[in-house]
Amino acid sequence: MVIFVDMDEVIADAYQAHIDIYNKEFGAEIRAEECLGKEFWQCVPEAHQQSIRNHTRRDGFFKNLKLIEGSQEVLEELSRKHDVYIASAAMEFPQSLREKSDWLDEFFPFIPWQNRILCGNKHVLKGDILIDDRSKNLEPFDGRSIMFTSPHNTHVNTFERAHTWQDIADKLL
Ligand SMILES: [Mg+2]
Repeated sequence: MVIFVDMDEVIADAYQAHIDIYNKEFGAEIRAEECLGKEFWQCVPEAHQQSIRNHTRRDGFFKNLKLIEGSQEVLEELSRKHDVYIASAAMEFPQSLREKSDWLDEFFPFIPWQNRILCGNKHVLKGDILIDDRSKNLEPFDGRSIMFTSPHNTHVNTFERAHTWQDIADKLL
């Protein structure tokens, strides 16, 4: 099977990074559990929202993301049995290309460059499975769409779901 795996919110914890940066810079104590069903910028006062939107344009943002728990182990196993591709709409933030490539080298060295798609629109992807946290990517996909749970998508109920990488292992290994 050809399996596409998104980066942010699926293997890299961008949502928590937004929270950590905001809490540090604004002296706040917001927790992810308070943000369910919302983008993180929707959880802060309007005057602070632009600051959050700019996080992803900062140097180092994507390089310093923490792993989503279990993603390394399960992806390594999956990539032994299937044709696994990382698929990230990285072109939205051009400076992220290098950082994402370096990040993958560090944490997912078993996924070679030939299996890394840093792209624009994901509608062009043709394969069997797409694991992603965004409806806009999962909806047009022709194969099996699996929504990976992130604070912002907890209220969406139109897709098959994986809450954790253990769920992915249970489904696909
Ligand atoms: Mg994502």
